[in-house]
Amino acid sequence: MNFADPIDEAAEREQQLIEVALANRPAATMVYTGECHWCNEPIDKGHFCSDECRSDHERMVWAEKQRRLQ
Ligand SMILES: [Zn+2]
Repeated sequence: MNFADPIDEAAEREQQLIEVALANRPAATMVYTGECHWCNEPIDKGHFCSDECRSDHERMVWAEKQRRLQ
């Protein structure tokens, strides 16, 4: 007997679809939390307390994306 288990095969295919969906999903939308998303400094509006935090955060998001694609 040497045939693939159809249940295992389906599970594997589903896992692949999930991985593709995760890799292609749009960047998460940011919600206003009252704190800088990078350093947690309290802020009145927006998502970051400074341009520096914004670019640091963008770099981190970019790096994470690269890691996910490998
Ligand atoms: Zn900050």
